[in-house]
Formats: sequence, C-alpha cells, structure tokens
Amino acid sequence: MKVKRAAKYGFCSGVRIADLKVKRFAAGGGRGAILGQVVHNERVVEEMESLGVRTVEQIDAVSESTIIFSAHGVPPSYHHEATSIGLKVLDTTCKFVYDIHHESKEALADGFHLIFIGDPNHREVIGYTNDLDPSRYHIVSTIAGADAVDWSQYEKLKVFYQTTLNAEDFENVVQAIERRAQRVERADTICYATKENQDAARVLATDPEVDMIIVIGGKKSANTKHLWEICRETKPSYLVQGVSDLDRNWFAQARVVGLTAGSSTPDYVIEEVEQAIAAI
Ligand code: SF4
Repeated sequence: MKVKRAAKYGFCSGVRIADLKVKRFAAGGGRGAILGQVVHNERVVEEMESLGVRTVEQIDAVSESTIIFSAHGVPPSYHHEATSIGLKVLDTTCKFVYDIHHESKEALADGFHLIFIGDPNHREVIGYTNDLDPSRYHIVSTIAGADAVDWSQYEKLKVFYQTTLNAEDFENVVQAIERRAQRVERADTICYATKENQDAARVLATDPEVDMIIVIGGKKSANTKHLWEICRETKPSYLVQGVSDLDRNWFAQARVVGLTAGSSTPDYVIEEVEQAIAAI
C-alpha cells in the first residue's frame, strides 16, 4: 500500500509561529497558562502541558505569572483584563487575525455595519466581536440567518470572513445579504494557508490513483473538518486524530491512500500516521 500526501497540508505559518513562541518560552524556564487551546489539537495541548504550559478556559483561572493568547486571538479587552490582575502576556495571535481586528476597527470608524461570516462560538470570531456594541455588527453563517435581518436599514455593510472558512461555501449567504442591502463591501480575509490546504485536498480527492483518504486533525479543528468534507465528496475518507483512531478494515481494498492534515496538526503526528498506514 502506497501513501500519497496532499501537496499542501498541516501547520500553517500562524500556528507554526505560535507553537515556536510557546516552546521557546517554556525552554527558557517560563511557566504559563494558555487561554483556550494554543491550536485546536489535543496532542499539541498534551505536549504543551508536558512543557509546563497548561490550558485554561478563563483568565482568572491562571495562577502562573504569564497568560498566553492563542493564534486565534482574543478580544482586545482581554489584554487589559490580564494585565490589570498582574499577568504578563505572551501573545501568539496570528498576523492575519490581527489584520481583521485592524480592518474591522477601521470599518467601524468609517461608519460601516459589520457582518462576520463564521461561527459565533469560535474563539477567533469572539475575538472580533466580544468588545463591540451589539448594534454595530451581526454574525451570520446561513441563508436563513441572512434573510432574518433587514439589511436595507444600514447605509453600508462590510463583510468579514472567519479566516478558516471556504468563501465559496458562503457565497450564497453573502449574495443573500447583497440582494437586500444598499451597499456591501467584502474584506478579503480568507487565510491563504487554509485555502491552499483545501485546494490540495481537492486535487488529492480527484486523483484517480487515490483509493481513499485519511484526514488528520483535532476533534475541535474547524479547518480539519472542512478538509474531511471536501475529501469525502469524492472518496471514502476518514478523520483521525492520530494512529490510535486508524481501523485496519478501512484499508482492505486500498492500494493508494491519500493523506492530508488540518492546519493545527503537528508534523510528528502526520509522520506517525503515515508510518502506521505503511505498516498495515
Ligand atoms: S489558518 Fe491562517 S489565519 Fe489561522 S492561524 Fe493559520 S495562518 Fe493564521
């Protein structure tokens, strides 16, 4: 059985930098707590804990001297809240996420009503919206959600996408808004890393040589799930977190197994899975 990796997969630049920053901090003797998972991958969380950097869900649960903000970013007020109780901040927020923070702030100052296309419970979206006046923005992810608002009441609207979404999947939602609005501008906020992994997964899924696909990533990783959805449209595809999720029966008919991984999956997990498949 042969394993064929997608042309692009795994850690994006933002996650690679976040991972490095935390490891350097720990290697220098730093002890801290990460607010939410540094990336959405359980193995990375375990690895961080072994380095002395645990994960917490609330700022007031941090007993160490440093709080670490993940690549997804946090609402600006969290920085103030942390420093006001004497915590140092290690900020690993991705540059592209900060770009959206800045662009949405400017749009607000220019009088736009903001629309965030994404998951209201995702940390990244919470980061953009938590501190805003609720009358100045909407979070939308479905046509029904888009149709439920009278957009014509706003003079101008600006649309931002959660970085890890596939814009094509939400084109009909944005068009539903555009049909009923006076003026809509779109911010180009889809992260190229996510798109590159998705495009490469599509190529892998339509490769006639590939019989089935294994997608590796964390249970809570939205972009990993998107990769899985893309792959299973065309080929039998299985989402695994690591070697222990593999089932020998999946591979009974397979000669070539495609392999891809979400942008929060570390290289060593990908290696382990590839070796385990090769051993089967
Ligand atoms: S997926 Fe893109 S926006 Fe998100 S952390 Fe990675 S590089 Fe940054």
